[in-house]
Amino acid sequence: MSDLAARLSAIDSQIADAARIAGRDAADITRIVVTKFHPASLVRELHALGVRDVGENRQQELEAKRGELDSPEGERELDGLRWHFIGQAQTNKAASIRRSADAVHSVDRIKLADALHRAAGNTDEVEPSVLDVLVQVNLTDDDGRGGVAPEGALHLAEHILALPSLRLRGVMGVAPLDEAPASAFARLRGIADTITALDPSATWISAGMTGDFVEAIAAGATHLRIGSAITGPRPDRG
Ligand SMILES: *Cc1c(COP(=O)(O)O)cnc(C)c1O
Repeated sequence: MSDLAARLSAIDSQIADAARIAGRDAADITRIVVTKFHPASLVRELHALGVRDVGENRQQELEAKRGELDSPEGERELDGLRWHFIGQAQTNKAASIRRSADAVHSVDRIKLADALHRAAGNTDEVEPSVLDVLVQVNLTDDDGRGGVAPEGALHLAEHILALPSLRLRGVMGVAPLDEAPASAFARLRGIADTITALDPSATWISAGMTGDFVEAIAAGATHLRIGSAITGPRPDRG
């Protein structure tokens, strides 16, 4: 078994254990492998190992990797692969993000939601494309971090529900460094519950990274974003 395969299977068994302890079905948990800073060839290797969900946090890198891995006509060569955009998004990059991502976890302001919606272009088509989006909630006290303030999350969710080319899937959060992840994820869970009360189909809770995915599973996370524990250390900027 390659090192990559061994790390992937070790993490998957930790996920299964954490799910069992939390009384949850591991099948309800999607493990997204965060491939940022790694070459497109790693995505190809992961796909060969059965990975179908990958995450990127920079629009240019996402676009470049898709360019490398898709056919010149834009057809997917890696069957069933879904790309999750998890980074801070600039409004003026909305069209590129919409083109390259299957789900955007980091919608944290009305302007960005509007820009992603506008990027859909003509929504009168017979089968207009619909983009999965999540409301990113800032769980820190620092306004400079990505995410809408918890008090603004519901309003942003309502706004998204009124945009037909976006499909609200749920919430996303990153635990602060200076707080126990369990308490931060409990706050996220509370916000998630207010949003599912608004739209019962918005059930995703994207939370949990290499250092805190066990706590995230206990708090009800449905989508884990795990990078270095699976990919190994990130080259240079990681
Ligand atoms: C990089 C990143 C991750 C993965 O981090 P690891 O600690 O390597 O698992 C998860 N979420 C976001 C938003 C990230 O930018």
